[in-house]
Amino acid sequence: MLLKSNLMIEKDFTMSVITIERKVLAKNDEIAGRNRELFRKNNVFVFNLVSSPGSGKTSILERTLEYFNGKVKVAVIEGDVQTDFDAQRIAKHNVPAVQIVTRSSCHLDASLIYDALQNIDLKNIQLLVIENVGNLVCPANYDLGEAVKIVVASTTEGDDKPLKYPEMFRNASVIIINKIDLLPYVNCNITTLRNNALRINPRLIIFETSCTTNAGITDWCDWIVKQIPPR
Ligand code: MG
Ligand code: ZN
Repeated sequence: MLLKSNLMIEKDFTMSVITIERKVLAKNDEIAGRNRELFRKNNVFVFNLVSSPGSGKTSILERTLEYFNGKVKVAVIEGDVQTDFDAQRIAKHNVPAVQIVTRSSCHLDASLIYDALQNIDLKNIQLLVIENVGNLVCPANYDLGEAVKIVVASTTEGDDKPLKYPEMFRNASVIIINKIDLLPYVNCNITTLRNNALRINPRLIIFETSCTTNAGITDWCDWIVKQIPPR
């Protein structure tokens, strides 16, 4: 009897959590829609760069900015839990960078992006990159108004990430397999990684990069340029 009532409480608790979460996500989607409309009006291509911590999101951005060398007008929003180290790295490339420090939160949401946009001149950029907090779980569910989610998986993380975090790989349009220069030294079969990613999402576009040797950076950057709307 006691066990039964405990189960009831647990069940009710779970149900109320789901309801709150739904409301939060509905509100988020509404603001994301507003962001998306701003991006569309200003002809800006926006991607949301996601991965677990340490996969090389900021390094990929740095190589990308070096490749563009000022020929593409870019702004960057950096999401981090605590520091502004990544925004400092981006600012060195003479690109406007806005840092969002989330403190305890492990993801960016649409209202944080909306606030950050007050510091970005959308009329004067072609590409906005949002580097999300390193986390493969909740950023999958938070639409920021971006055109696409791009997920980075590095070879040092092994080849099973897509199977362990399917939601993220399902919601992404592109996967960048980074640190391919380390393949001889790590326990990762790149064919298995590709197949696992495609098993979760057969439409994924795949790039293979190394920020040390610059392998794959040209292909990746050429793809970005093709996504930028004409003005
Ligand atoms: Mg970073
Ligand atoms: Zn989170």
